Amino acid sequence: MKILIVEDEPKTGAYLKLGLTQAGFTVHVAEDGWEGLRLARTQEYDLVVLDVMLPGLDGWEVIRGIRLANKDVPVLFLTARDEVDDRVKGLELGADDYLVKPFAFPELLARIRTRLRRGQAVQPLDRLLVADLEIDLLRRRVVRAGKRIELTPKEFSLLELLVRRAGEVLPRMLIASQVWDMNFHSETNAIDVAVRRLRAKVDDGFEVKLIQTVRGIGYVVENPAQ
Ligand code: CA
Repeated sequence: MKILIVEDEPKTGAYLKLGLTQAGFTVHVAEDGWEGLRLARTQEYDLVVLDVMLPGLDGWEVIRGIRLANKDVPVLFLTARDEVDDRVKGLELGADDYLVKPFAFPELLARIRTRLRRGQAVQPLDRLLVADLEIDLLRRRVVRAGKRIELTPKEFSLLELLVRRAGEVLPRMLIASQVWDMNFHSETNAIDVAVRRLRAKVDDGFEVKLIQTVRGIGYVVENPAQ
């Protein structure tokens, strides 16, 4: 696990680096905002510990730059200013957690471990692929054979479910509960209507039909070539 520390006070930086290295992490330290942003954008880190008051770019600008680069690495802010406004500002900019200086090292370590565990548990693949269909989960875009497909949010969720579980026949009731978060009566045709609309966007005009009906049961997305 690789951690970037952006901290301009050399003593604090060295202390954090030593502690986190001993805890088994690979640690890089940047001493100003520009260097921090450069490293965060060009390297892959599992977590960034970011001081707010920094020379060059401050912590707010660094996190903005990280998010603009589409990096969703968890960021834990270190701030000496325990003010509600700062917290709100940081969270709006995409900070994941806060620690107010001065803090005890074990507290920082515990927060980092919690964050990394949470990240691992929920970290989605950012791309799903089946045949020539690609779902970009971060940008919520669907492309088939290089052509962008516009979907409503519900259609997107439906397609995402089918593709995540490609090859598995999904009963209508399961689709209803997962996508609509409700139970439809089995006689309703709402799911069929939704699938028909989705199919018109995803399969019409393509030789290979990815969305298949399994009569009396439900639907399955399959790559017929596999
Ligand atoms: Ca500082």
